[in-house]
Amino acid sequence: MGAAELFIDLDAVAANWRALDAMSADHVETAAVVKADAYGLDVARVARRLTAQGVRSFFVALAGEGVALRHVVDDRADIYVFSGHMAGDGDALHSADLIPMLNSPEQVARHFSETPGHAFGVQLDTGMNRLGMEPNDWAALRGDLMAAGPRLVISHLACADTPDHPMNHQQLRTFVEMTEGVARRSLAATGGLLLGPEYHFELVRPGIGLYGGLPFTEATPVVRLSVPVVQTRTVRPFETVGYGNAWEADIERQIATISAGYADGLIRSMGQGAQIYAGDVACPVVGRVSMDLITVDVTHLDEVPDALEVLGAHQSVDDLAACAGTIGYEILTSLGHRYARRYEGA
Ligand SMILES: *Cc1c(COP(=O)(O)O)cnc(C)c1O
Repeated sequence: MGAAELFIDLDAVAANWRALDAMSADHVETAAVVKADAYGLDVARVARRLTAQGVRSFFVALAGEGVALRHVVDDRADIYVFSGHMAGDGDALHSADLIPMLNSPEQVARHFSETPGHAFGVQLDTGMNRLGMEPNDWAALRGDLMAAGPRLVISHLACADTPDHPMNHQQLRTFVEMTEGVARRSLAATGGLLLGPEYHFELVRPGIGLYGGLPFTEATPVVRLSVPVVQTRTVRPFETVGYGNAWEADIERQIATISAGYADGLIRSMGQGAQIYAGDVACPVVGRVSMDLITVDVTHLDEVPDALEVLGAHQSVDDLAACAGTIGYEILTSLGHRYARRYEGA
């Protein structure tokens, strides 16, 4: 015993998908992004639950992720690979029937020579300058690519989590210009979906919103993390707690030590300022986060419970991320392998 418990509510993932799906018109397909092991929550369980919910299209980052996903979803599901057709991917793309999003003229050449006739999509760069074909490459190859029939043409927004950012409209305009006459297009991840219908095209592809993260503020929480208290001690005035003597007691304090730390994804930089919850009551983290342990001031509690809640109704991955100067995505995908994972709603 002693392991912290990570509760993952698959029904909440399905509810979030339904809520996001309801935000676009009926003719717009709502896919699901399940890269990085479904943002760390277990792609097999998440994809099965979403398939039962009616999801037919999935996106992963790498061909290898697509192969693993194909074992879980049925043959009719479309699996798109954001990184496209990289060197050495041919067999995986072919055997698992994956759809690479071709990102460059090199990938187009590779795809047509190594896997002729195999399905593909195209990713365009509309200003983010991360992945995708530049306008001049697209102009040169468009005729051949359109003749071969891409399954989907996409681009990605750089600033969709900031609705008023002028980049959104600029990328939208560029995407519309570049994809005139294309039958099946997708521009929106979670943030773009929330920007409104002109961003939806034929398919939207939310990731983080499914898992309860911002910018989907209405999301149902998906994860709850309960961490056992290893011991509680009295600390007298001027005594210090933890590495570097980073915290010193002002008056006599009760300090609980809980059994999770930065090796479990509760990153050190969240440090002081983060709260850990005893039921509804917030308890401040004191001192430095260590590899396996965090110290918490519980002086104000009548009784110290057996476990404290790090993530849950009172604190989302985004709240915790804010304490650490990062984003919910990073907290979620960093949650470690030592937790006892309890799936609900499978
Ligand atoms: C990760 C990713 C998504 C999903 O983004 P969220 O912000 O998690 O919804 C969609 N499209 C691309 C290209 C991505 O890399």
